[in-house]
Amino acid sequence: MKPNPSISDRALEHVQALKAYVPGEQPQVADWIKLNTNENPYPPSPRVEAALAAVSGDSMRKYPNPISASLREKLAHHFELPNSDWAFVGNGSDEILNLLMRVFCGGERSGGYMVPSYSLYPVLLSIQNAQKVSVRYDSTMSFPVEAVANCGANIFFLTSPNAPTGVGIPTNKIRRLAESFPGILVVDEAYGAFADEDAISLIEEFPSLCVTRTFSKSHGLAGVRIGCLLGNPEIIELLDKVRDSYNMNLLSQAAGIAALSDTDYYEGVIEKIKRTRDSYYNLWKDKGWKTYRSQANYIFTEPINAASESGPEVAKSLFDFLLGRKILVRYFGNDVLTESFLRISVGSESEMLTLSEAIDQWQKNA
Ligand code: PMP
Repeated sequence: MKPNPSISDRALEHVQALKAYVPGEQPQVADWIKLNTNENPYPPSPRVEAALAAVSGDSMRKYPNPISASLREKLAHHFELPNSDWAFVGNGSDEILNLLMRVFCGGERSGGYMVPSYSLYPVLLSIQNAQKVSVRYDSTMSFPVEAVANCGANIFFLTSPNAPTGVGIPTNKIRRLAESFPGILVVDEAYGAFADEDAISLIEEFPSLCVTRTFSKSHGLAGVRIGCLLGNPEIIELLDKVRDSYNMNLLSQAAGIAALSDTDYYEGVIEKIKRTRDSYYNLWKDKGWKTYRSQANYIFTEPINAASESGPEVAKSLFDFLLGRKILVRYFGNDVLTESFLRISVGSESEMLTLSEAIDQWQKNA
């Protein structure tokens, strides 16, 4: 260290070098059509607002239940797990991913992830100063079981359905991987509620496989911050050792419990989003745009302009055109597999109609 170190000189060297994760933009005014961070276009169950309104000032005065016991019980019941020892909750699934890194990654204990997938994983690994192991998809986006099985990572983060493509990893492939990969397998099912199948059925069979889920997308509660991990009690005991003692506040616990009590409401919301998703997937595919079949609540599509061109400039030009009309989508220009595409969250029917009309305008102008 220098003789008179500055504040940043005093920070750990790997933190000084760190590039923080950049979340999607959150405009502070209401007149945007926000199709950039995969939020639910519909409100949460009315039971959630009622439960939050019923929280008393006196209960706020006290600390919340430190292990979120009722919410863990509800989750275990909801996902048909043996008991609440199989469920863990966190301040969004991002907190849980971070805690998994804290438990399993550092120095030689490496963390693996697919490229492209959720770009938070490498940032969390950098925070841990841990070795990174990445495995690339090719443009078919078919999941390479053998490459991951042999990648040597201590823990591997699989995103299914994947972000930003929406492509799901078939459960039989995850099973084959669990049979051959010696480390911990985390299946990040942030978008699992919109998918054809999930890996929850594998948890009891494979103790080193766990699944993370979030209430941010399927349950319309991104602002409340609720995520969960379903997995073997041995993994959960480790997470409990490293989390904050009160990692879930009183209001989040109440909201999560209320949301899980209204499965009929959420089944309706999810069906509606899937219907909208499938109709726009068909629309863009029928236009001739390369579009991956999505099992999530967003669509990854490669725009083609009036001159029949596609590519990074074309995708960026549509992104900018939409931005000018106060429609926010997501552009990932940092990889050849993503730079010619846009990721568009599935909005309400009327938001999607406005988007679709704007796309037609762009095609006429471009
Ligand atoms: N995993 C994936 C793949 C995601 O896209 C997101 C949302 N950005 C998360 C996890 C985190 O979601 P949350 O923290 O809101 O639960």
